[in-house]
Amino acid sequence: MQVQEELVRRSKGHISTSGKKRNFSANHVFSQIIFCGECGEIYRRVHWNNRGKKSIVWRCVSRLENTGLACHSRTVQEDMIGLATVDAINKLLGQKDDFLITLKENIETVISETDNNIVSEIDKKLEELQKDLLRLANSKEDYNDIADEIYRLREERHKALAEEAGKKGSKQRLEDMEKFLNEQSTFLEEYDEAYRENNGL
Ligand SMILES: [Zn+2]
Repeated sequence: MQVQEELVRRSKGHISTSGKKRNFSANHVFSQIIFCGECGEIYRRVHWNNRGKKSIVWRCVSRLENTGLACHSRTVQEDMIGLATVDAINKLLGQKDDFLITLKENIETVISETDNNIVSEIDKKLEELQKDLLRLANSKEDYNDIADEIYRLREERHKALAEEAGKKGSKQRLEDMEKFLNEQSTFLEEYDEAYRENNGL
């Protein structure tokens, strides 16, 4: 099974490729973190009864209900997902040091880009232009060019604000991941389904 088919990221209120919002209650440790590598829908936990042989499997939602997406993804035994997830996390933890260096570089890049203060530069320009506009209007001169420039800068300011918000979000996610990795000192043990069920997780 391909890693990208199964793992692999937690997303609140994931919007799938078919446009449906998938927000099932987290009734299982893998709920909402397994996405189909073929169609992008989530995988759902299914109690399977194959000629009297019972097992728990995970299937792409496109194969369980009509999502408008034709999908041929495989049905996966639950114990295989447990093992594959542990394997993927351990690979990440194994490369922790390299990964952390790259992560820190990324955080620094994001910070330096955010510090450019594009918005306050635009604000300064806008202030000047508004003064010019008032002066021209008072002396009954043509101020169309300045008005156009003000509109253009307002648009630019709007875009810069949205970009800054996006960067702050990325920075937060990178910092969260760095914190998580720093806290992991050892590799995960084998995924223990029995432990999970006994403890009602
Ligand atoms: Zn699918």
